[in-house]
Amino acid sequence: MTTTTTPRIAIVGAGPGGLLLSRLLHLASIPFTLYEREPHRHSREQGGSLDLHEESGQLALKEAQLIDEFRKIARAEGEDMRVVDKTGHLHWEEVDTDGHGRPEVDRVLLRGLLLDSLPEDAVEWGCKVGSITPTEGGKHDIHIEAASGSERETFDLVVGADGAWSKVRPLLSDTKPQYSTISCLDTRIHSIDTKSPHISRMVGQGSYFAFSDCKGLMAQRNGDGSVRTYAMLQVGETWLKDTGVDWLDPEAAKEFLLKEYADWDECLKDLIRHADSDITPRVLYQLPTDFAWTSKQGLTLLGDAAHLMTPFAGEGVNLAMLDGLELSKAIIHGTKLRDLTSAVRKYEEEMMARSHEKMEETWRNLELFFQKDAPREFVKAFEEIMAQRGPPPNAMPDPQA
Ligand SMILES: Cc1cc2nc3c(=O)[nH]c(=O)nc-3n(C[C@H](O)[C@H](O)[C@H](O)COP(=O)(O)OP(=O)(O)OC[C@H]3O[C@@H](n4cnc5c(N)ncnc54)[C@H](O)[C@@H]3O)c2cc1C
Repeated sequence: MTTTTTPRIAIVGAGPGGLLLSRLLHLASIPFTLYEREPHRHSREQGGSLDLHEESGQLALKEAQLIDEFRKIARAEGEDMRVVDKTGHLHWEEVDTDGHGRPEVDRVLLRGLLLDSLPEDAVEWGCKVGSITPTEGGKHDIHIEAASGSERETFDLVVGADGAWSKVRPLLSDTKPQYSTISCLDTRIHSIDTKSPHISRMVGQGSYFAFSDCKGLMAQRNGDGSVRTYAMLQVGETWLKDTGVDWLDPEAAKEFLLKEYADWDECLKDLIRHADSDITPRVLYQLPTDFAWTSKQGLTLLGDAAHLMTPFAGEGVNLAMLDGLELSKAIIHGTKLRDLTSAVRKYEEEMMARSHEKMEETWRNLELFFQKDAPREFVKAFEEIMAQRGPPPNAMPDPQA
């Protein structure tokens, strides 16, 4: 596309990727329209804790001039990690006083930081993009469904930052997300220090992961004094439904889960037993690790829309933010040169190469976590990686290995 005026840019989705891109375009005084289907910023519980990596998530925040504010809400001690099996036997411990440069942050705080860095009216809340249709000259019409009615707007560039079930992705590829083999129950214990001090001690300041028998209990301390535990199970795609359990009934959900983890250590089962009322079922999907598309004028993707993966390498949010940074550079450069299409194509080539690597790493981790004798193979693989990089501060090899 050879633009003669400032291009009209739409960003679909105010997740971490879409917000980061918006912040950087705002700093560069490039106008954009940001559509978000949620009615307002507090309409949904945002989920757990995320670790931001130096070379991606933190780099993006630095470029967005938000790194100092981020440091105020980040938790370096959140990097602590213990990995055990179903008996509670410790296979790996990293109590990381100096940190590996990957501090944790509550997702709600990260989103707040990004939202507060934009003008108050930057997000068009309650605007669900229903469909997108090509018009002339590489432009696209976006059809918006809002409480006030539906409307149509035309844009030179539509950025799909709209997550797993992107409305933009089908215009670039027929590939759909596939079931990852993992289903998840997202549970939480609030006020952990007073309510369940023994669980608080067990989980520590960071993450406490238990894996065995193709199942996991992944517990993480959050900054608000709660512990979030993902009960992860390698089961069929429709398992959550097939069990017949009403997952929104916390007592029924806990009773069923305790049977699923019947032969696990009692302290581990307490992560389920002590859970509060807000249990959320999640079916985890992913795109193929080599997912790619042929560049098309007027459209592009970032974040989960471009490379949906499971959380087993902790890369999703980091890549989404790095994409936001790299795409902002492409848009700024392409606008100056009046050749947005070539700049976006280059962004896509580089983004696909780096995301394929992380999608493969994520898939390898999933396979290692969900083995009968997990976490043995995962710890072995992790030790090999750490040996190449130099030993971690408090690595404890499994004495039974
Ligand atoms: C259980 C779980 C745990 C995770 N843990 C981690 C972790 O520890 N570390 C990590 O790096 N990643 C983790 N992830 C992955 C991480 O959440 C995602 O990779 C990240 O949120 C992707 O950001 P995004 O901006 O691309 O998309 P999203 O965060 O999905 O944001 C997309 C936005 O688009 C909006 N939207 C969607 N459709 C439309 C539409 N039609 N119109 C308008 N708006 C729309 C949505 O409402 C949403 O606000 C986890 C994921 C899950 C499920």
